[in-house]
Amino acid sequence: MIIAIDGPAASGKGTLAKKLAARYGLRHLDTGSLYRAVAYDVLEAGGDPANVDDAVLAARKLEPSGIPVDALRTPAVSEAASVVAAIPEVRSAILAFQRDYAAQPPGAVLDGRDIGTVVCPNADAKLFVIASSQARARRRYLELAARDSSVREEDVLTDIEARDRRDRERTVSPMTKADDAYLLDTTNLDIETAFEAAVAIIDGRRSND
Ligand code: C5P
Repeated sequence: MIIAIDGPAASGKGTLAKKLAARYGLRHLDTGSLYRAVAYDVLEAGGDPANVDDAVLAARKLEPSGIPVDALRTPAVSEAASVVAAIPEVRSAILAFQRDYAAQPPGAVLDGRDIGTVVCPNADAKLFVIASSQARARRRYLELAARDSSVREEDVLTDIEARDRRDRERTVSPMTKADDAYLLDTTNLDIETAFEAAVAIIDGRRSND
């Protein structure tokens, strides 16, 4: 089984994807971490994330497992990830890896922006997870503030909105809900309630097949 979970930054899709993978005995791929790893490598090498050659070089020799997870979650890497993600050659360099991952038995949960539309258009179940910008900024702020007390919530909101705009408006694989994806709004849901709602959607969908 393949489950595709897309949605904007801090919508809760990563946490949901992890819990759904455990629930259904599937593997989990956080595809955002691939774009973050490319961005991290470009920045580490002193390159420019908007430069096609710098970004494609990093995408082709991608080794995400060697990078400490915290180093991938900084605001600078988040911003640079959405810049490299708008480059078509970067996306195509990463596409086969994602599809191969999904195709390995027993299947997988993939979360990202274009899983239901481009990476796994034939997924068995698709969710598009949203929440208000304010709720998402609050969640991301609490996450970041635990590591860095100088973080300001209004800056997190500005960054998230800029990143969403870039992800929605790019020409290649923009963030958009697949026609057959279920919309799940987590603005007023805690993790457990959102998880139960996602399970109900997936089980309902599977029993209709
Ligand atoms: O999901 P996360 O916030 O970690 O993703 C970081 C960035 O990677 C996103 O803002 C987006 O630009 C890019 N991304 C993408 N397609 C995906 C996953 C992430 O373009 N499938």
